[in-house]
Amino acid sequence: MKRLVSGVRPTGYLHLGHLEGVLKNCVKLQDEYECFPFIADWHALTDHLDTEMLAEYTVQAAVDWLSAGIDPQKSTLFVQSHVKEHAELMLLLSMVTPVPWVERTPSYKDMLAKLEGTRQNPSLGFLAYPVLQAADIIIYKAEVVPVGEDQLPHLELCREIVRRFHALFGRKIFPEPQALLTETPNLPGTDGRKMSKSYGNCIYLNDPPEEIRKKVMEMVTDPARIRRTDPGHPEVCTVYAYHRIYNEKELPEIEEACRAGRIGCVECKRRMAEALIEALRPFHERRSYWTSHLDEVRDLLREGAEKAGKIARETLEEVREAIRLFR
Ligand code: SF4
Repeated sequence: MKRLVSGVRPTGYLHLGHLEGVLKNCVKLQDEYECFPFIADWHALTDHLDTEMLAEYTVQAAVDWLSAGIDPQKSTLFVQSHVKEHAELMLLLSMVTPVPWVERTPSYKDMLAKLEGTRQNPSLGFLAYPVLQAADIIIYKAEVVPVGEDQLPHLELCREIVRRFHALFGRKIFPEPQALLTETPNLPGTDGRKMSKSYGNCIYLNDPPEEIRKKVMEMVTDPARIRRTDPGHPEVCTVYAYHRIYNEKELPEIEEACRAGRIGCVECKRRMAEALIEALRPFHERRSYWTSHLDEVRDLLREGAEKAGKIARETLEEVREAIRLFR
């Protein structure tokens, strides 16, 4: 089986965007690939130094992976910082990575633009995080990484690092990982922008049904609809984007009624909230199991780190040998 690596950063509680864009994908692929889902806590530190909740977010992310359906018998679930070999490989890879390669990544340029005019600078860790990402992938000799389009430059950088490493040390150790372009459903935040903790527009995976209902009732809709009888434009409506994913059954009826001005947004939101809660029911049921069995979650993470660590150590042995470090 080919290996696949997929990580989430515990910079907050995970939200619906993570579930639909990352977690479910990995669950779908775990019969086809040897999967290594992990919680990238070191990556969280690259731009989040408020660590008061980091441990909590980390364990809750593990709960989310498991609740989404990651099967520990098939997949190796672990926390990045529990497999120290990632850091050693990152250090060694950073020796073969020219600084301009990381400076030209879109995420670094975005960060520079964001900080322009402030007195802040990105950290060295932030600059180098694509190198850590490369280490996360190739330490397992993963051949496949499920990514969205925005992550393609990082994967290309990872392949460049692999090629340079092989050329410098004359030994092929790593496969060049390929992108598995994943279809991510368009799931905006409650205000219609990209779902993101920093916008305060997320539906979190640990939100109870009453909180989901509340957030749905606050969602932005078609701004052209002032009165209930105004014809609507579902294609610009956030609520409709959710109906598309979670309420396929009623979708044609909702669309028609909206366009004809025969349904009010309040009723439409109520129906969507119930459909969403119903669709999340199996996830929530598993979640309530895992949150009440956190010791089991910790044991699984420990076992996952042991299993991942064994493979990582084998790879590092080859790397140290290729570099001709004194052993
Ligand atoms: S009726 Fe529904 S789909 Fe139409 S604008 Fe209102 S919330 Fe959106």
